[in-house]
Amino acid sequence: MTDSLDPEDWQGFRKRAHAMLDAALDRMETYREGRVWNPPEDTLKVFHAPDQKASGAEATDAALQELFSYGVGNTHPRFFGWVHGAGTPANLMADITAATLNANCGGRNHAAIELEKRLIDWCLAQFNFPKSGSGLITTGTSMATVIALKAARDHALDFESRNQGLKDLPKLTGYTSEGAHNCIARAFDLLGLGSIALRKVPIDQNGQMDTNALRAAIHDDRKAGYTPFLICATAGTVNTGSIDPLDEAGQIARAEGIWFHVDAAFAAALQFSDAHRGKLAGIEKAHSLAFDFHKWMQVNYDAGCVLIRNGDSHRRSFSDRPDYLSPMTRGLAAGNPWPVEYGPELSRGFRALKVWAQLHEFGTEELAAVVERNISQAAYLAERVRKAPELELLSYAGLNICCFRFDASGKTGQEADAMTEEIVTRLQEEGTAAPSTTRIDGKLAIRVNITNHRTQMSDIDVLVDGVLEIGRELQG
Ligand SMILES: *Cc1c(COP(=O)(O)O)cnc(C)c1O
Repeated sequence: MTDSLDPEDWQGFRKRAHAMLDAALDRMETYREGRVWNPPEDTLKVFHAPDQKASGAEATDAALQELFSYGVGNTHPRFFGWVHGAGTPANLMADITAATLNANCGGRNHAAIELEKRLIDWCLAQFNFPKSGSGLITTGTSMATVIALKAARDHALDFESRNQGLKDLPKLTGYTSEGAHNCIARAFDLLGLGSIALRKVPIDQNGQMDTNALRAAIHDDRKAGYTPFLICATAGTVNTGSIDPLDEAGQIARAEGIWFHVDAAFAAALQFSDAHRGKLAGIEKAHSLAFDFHKWMQVNYDAGCVLIRNGDSHRRSFSDRPDYLSPMTRGLAAGNPWPVEYGPELSRGFRALKVWAQLHEFGTEELAAVVERNISQAAYLAERVRKAPELELLSYAGLNICCFRFDASGKTGQEADAMTEEIVTRLQEEGTAAPSTTRIDGKLAIRVNITNHRTQMSDIDVLVDGVLEIGRELQG
């Protein structure tokens, strides 16, 4: 037994750490090569359950290094599934620093808290929110949404919900589109509003919220005795990358006197691009905004953000400092307000550091270049699909997502869906590429999302050629 958990032999530990770093760099250098995805079965054999007896450094590091080739695949240029960022090797520097500091960022007076505050101020300015706004670096958009919607709920109920719960208070209803991400309904569930209180407004042929239907739904609910409190627009839907008419949705919210929230999980990155920023016009009207750094901004997992226009209101929704956390004006208990007054977590890591490091190292310009490149790659894909007689374009909204399928003529809907599923599964299993699937107008689609700084045009060709090859083979 040692008298602490620190290394006894620092020289030896140094060697160990350098070896680990080298193994990590070897992996990063070959991110582009090999299979996109390796199923997890093989590697889990080396992960024995922890035991009362120490397994030691060597066995632990060997198991850790075994993991390097078994990611979800998002570090590979042909990962096109769902919406994942690819991360950067450079971000490792911030992760080393954060691990070394091992700071708890729930509160107290230290540099990490100050850096997060400044980063939030910078984010507020990026989206033309007032300086009096507030925010928090979160795990992702799901958590950012819970925080924003709690602020919206409590604001609507004059903060009485915090104490007495929702019983005997007005019945709140919120509005989002059928194309919205499930995290909004989940937030309604978590906040005790019930997911049924979230009305799903139909989308038009462009995948955008139908604002006439939105007005009608609010009107109907008021007549039925409900209290509409929230419009939640999406900038960049998961299915098609459509952007709701933000400016109009914001105007409706203002006219109705209700909270306007925007989910811009991945498309917030458009704000960095001179060519594409205009697509987000109206986002500055939002009372709250949720987005991710770990998607299109390529920060390593996990990091998202919530911004709230009215900082006082945000704080009133979460602040609750018991005696053991009471503020001081000097010393370690100063540095007020603390992050714990803006979200549900007390202990939290220094996520803000890797976000800052990424933005600082690459600047918004280099990150915008990734966004612009990915958009032109999706346009190229849509064009290849249009030109190929054996492929059918199902959706392309001009952003970074394109949905299509292999020729379905002469097939029943079920047969066509089965074929799409088989093509996508085989591409993944063969390790060629990793698109995912979704439904567009009831048809199962090969869904290609490009939020990946490693993707090149040639990777799009590999994908399309792969789809054609498997499709033709299945066609017989
Ligand atoms: C990914 C995504 C979310 C959820 O974000 P997480 O960071 O995964 O929690 C919400 N909305 C949209 C539009 C998304 O793409």
